[in-house]
Amino acid sequence: MQAVHTIAEARRARAAFDELGFVPTMGYLHQGHLALVEQARVECPAVAVSIFVNPTQFGPHEDYARYPRDTARDLALLEAAGVDLVFIPTVEEMYPPGFGTYVIQPAADEVLEGAARPGHFRGVATVVCKLFNIIQPTKSYFGQKDAQQTIVVRQMVRDLNIPVEIVIVPTVREPDGLALSSRNVYLTPEQRAAAPVLYRALRAAAERYAAGERSGEMLRAVMREVLATEPLAKPEYVSVAHPHTLRELDQIGPEGALLSMAVRFDQVRLIDNWVLL
Ligand code: AMP
Repeated sequence: MQAVHTIAEARRARAAFDELGFVPTMGYLHQGHLALVEQARVECPAVAVSIFVNPTQFGPHEDYARYPRDTARDLALLEAAGVDLVFIPTVEEMYPPGFGTYVIQPAADEVLEGAARPGHFRGVATVVCKLFNIIQPTKSYFGQKDAQQTIVVRQMVRDLNIPVEIVIVPTVREPDGLALSSRNVYLTPEQRAAAPVLYRALRAAAERYAAGERSGEMLRAVMREVLATEPLAKPEYVSVAHPHTLRELDQIGPEGALLSMAVRFDQVRLIDNWVLL
């Protein structure tokens, strides 16, 4: 496994491969990230991973400075997972003085994570576009955990004609249902015990949908009710949205829906989602 820090080195290393699978991450890796790597390993002859905590996708009052980092541990995990190339740029390498071009999707900023985190998807789309240009992957792997991100990336690739295939990998969960996230380390033991309430709320709504319920408001109410059983959980939004436009639905139609939520446990903000087919 080769680990490189500059764009020039990454380009040189990439040239050694033909078809390449690529997994962009912010590091502090867990089994969710490794599921993406494993799928890439199955589908591609070589695999590259990037580790970059991207400052432009964090708001001014978000957790950029304290986002967990452990590059030595990440490299050991990636080596063991059979990764060929790791790209670990500095902020100065990715955003040198004078940097001034961004990829924006105004529609994404109006709903869900985009509405809750102004500028977030501008940062995500810009850094993913840059990483695609540097690594030039054949396929790139993203987690369903960040559902709106998968939609933003797919739209960017389509709109800007970027020659990469986007693959979505199912959310990896703890045995109690909590979706794996680098941010779970922020949770106190009490918050950690309460955190599976997101999964319980999603599952309750999914069960009502399976039993025939098609009212968006009824399913939002089911999720809010379950979340209310956990006093430490403060919902930021609870959504039943169209799976492509992410607009809130009154009635779920033949295309199904995306159930999603952002819930605060004091300073820690968790998201989760569930696709209704
Ligand atoms: P991050 O390091 O949080 O930017 O995540 C890097 C990639 O891993 C993104 O495509 C995430 O959606 C994906 N990911 C994060 N957590 C999970 C999870 N629990 N299951 C599956 N994919 C995940």
